[in-house]
Amino acid sequence: MAATPKHDYYETLGVPRTADAEEIRKAYRKLARKYHPDLNPGDKSSEDRFKNVQEAYDILSDPKKRPMYDQFGFYSENGFTGQQPQPGQGGQGQHFDFSGFDFSDFPGAGPGGAGSGGRRTTETGGGFRDIFSQFFHRGEQEVEPEKGGDLEYVMNIDFWQAIRGTTARVNITRYETCGTCQGTGSTGAGEVACPQCKGTGHVSQMAGAMKFNLTCPRCGGSGKLRNACPTCGGDGRLARTEQVEIRIPPGARDGSRLRVPGKGNAGTQGAPPGDLYITTKVEPHAFFRREGENIEITVPVAVWEAALGSKIEVPTIDGRTLLKIPQGTTNGQKFRMREKGVLNSRTNQRGDQIVEVAITAPDPRDERTRKLLSDLAEIHKDEDPRAEMWAKI
Ligand SMILES: [Zn+2]
Ligand SMILES: [Zn+2]
Repeated sequence: MAATPKHDYYETLGVPRTADAEEIRKAYRKLARKYHPDLNPGDKSSEDRFKNVQEAYDILSDPKKRPMYDQFGFYSENGFTGQQPQPGQGGQGQHFDFSGFDFSDFPGAGPGGAGSGGRRTTETGGGFRDIFSQFFHRGEQEVEPEKGGDLEYVMNIDFWQAIRGTTARVNITRYETCGTCQGTGSTGAGEVACPQCKGTGHVSQMAGAMKFNLTCPRCGGSGKLRNACPTCGGDGRLARTEQVEIRIPPGARDGSRLRVPGKGNAGTQGAPPGDLYITTKVEPHAFFRREGENIEITVPVAVWEAALGSKIEVPTIDGRTLLKIPQGTTNGQKFRMREKGVLNSRTNQRGDQIVEVAITAPDPRDERTRKLLSDLAEIHKDEDPRAEMWAKI
């Protein structure tokens, strides 16, 4: 019965099994951005990847869940209970379906094996149960409050929105604390389908090469929850899409990350919510290039403007501005226009604009221009523009 685990979370995040918390967090952020449904509308495979990435991060980022996953290849909210299996009675404890698996290699299993007093049945070896019970507390059913997860969103803005700042409304889908039960999951007297097993009464999980059919730990196999909150089905949280107003400050850079405290997923059992992170993606401009707070621009300059020197009009983010270029300006020469760059909203200072000169040669389509250029060539016929090159070869 060779089978592979449903998800290799390490593979999903593309990190080695030895990865530390920081590596895992970085890999998650990168992938969450890449596969986010907002960036891949209607793309089912991206959506699935996104969910897998979320799931992998949920387990691997948790110091309690990760060791269990490392040990057994899956994580269960309730671990394994140490209760004795009761054949023919599925309503109590967890029911391991080991059919088709040979336990003879496990210590304590098989004829004459010395289990630790556990009553053996045809279905489970006592030794096998003992292996599990070393790691998990017996019958621990209460769920501890957990801080809500952070959410990552990417926001596309154009060049001018980044320069001037902007306010945008973003639709965020997040888990909110259920208002009916205040997050406890247990008001009301109704009976609802168990959300964990979707009413079937059992759940299946992979542990390495083994598939387990477990009695649902949430509902004890009945498939129903009594006294569960009818609004959230006992989960304590509800997924809601909410419009969050995001203020992007002037001078935002491509890739800058904004934290909106408390707007991540709600915590369970009244624990605090996570945060929302917005990464800005700035579309490039046709001419202006951002280099931090500086703006870089390449400006065409006619050969006579460069040779004689002149005052030329160049575009800046403030509009047309005069730039004086000196006599004998060469191609590629750079000029700094002070405080014509981007405002840094923290220091309240502006960067500079750096103008690079691109000299254009005239195309002599009229006789007079042709005559002037020929005269120029005649005057300089003894000069070799490449003289410096020859000297260095
Ligand atoms: Zn509720
Ligand atoms: Zn259930």
